[in-house]
Amino acid sequence: MNSIYLIPFGTIDQDILPPLEVTLWQVFGYDVQRLPALAEPASAFTPATGQWNSSLLLRDLLSVRPEDAVRLLGITEHDLFIPMLSFVFGHAQLNGPAAVISLARLRQEFYRLPGNIPLFHHRVMKEAVHELGHTFGLIHCADPRCAMSLSNGIRQVDAKEAELCSDCYELFQSSVVSI
Ligand SMILES: [Zn+2]
Ligand SMILES: [Zn+2]
Repeated sequence: MNSIYLIPFGTIDQDILPPLEVTLWQVFGYDVQRLPALAEPASAFTPATGQWNSSLLLRDLLSVRPEDAVRLLGITEHDLFIPMLSFVFGHAQLNGPAAVISLARLRQEFYRLPGNIPLFHHRVMKEAVHELGHTFGLIHCADPRCAMSLSNGIRQVDAKEAELCSDCYELFQSSVVSI
């Protein structure tokens, strides 16, 4: 069955997976399955900043792509960057098979605030929908409540929902026809 596959890098917080699977199924309509964790590619680590190069994680996802994978979503606890940007919440191949999200900046503790698990889980869902939306060809949306709106910081993540606006949903559906 055509599925979206979730692939952890190393050890991640497993509690995020059940609510994430439900959300992704609701938004995109695909069965959601898990693959065993991949080791983080050591070459992706940049000691100077303590961050990981998201492009190299995407590359590794493609190497384990099942035949029935509609899309692959990697999940890491590590803080990610792409060259020229100080950090990214996630990184996706536009119209491509793979995306990755980082949990590092989605917890309140990162901002020296008390932990809030429901808020953390909600942020994970939003970022997962956002990055997978890019893999289905969606670009950034001007509606701040839409999951496809651009987030440069956590406030913008909190302003949006883990859902596509009607315009983005229509675009998603038209892209699915061509898969
Ligand atoms: Zn984006
Ligand atoms: Zn939208």
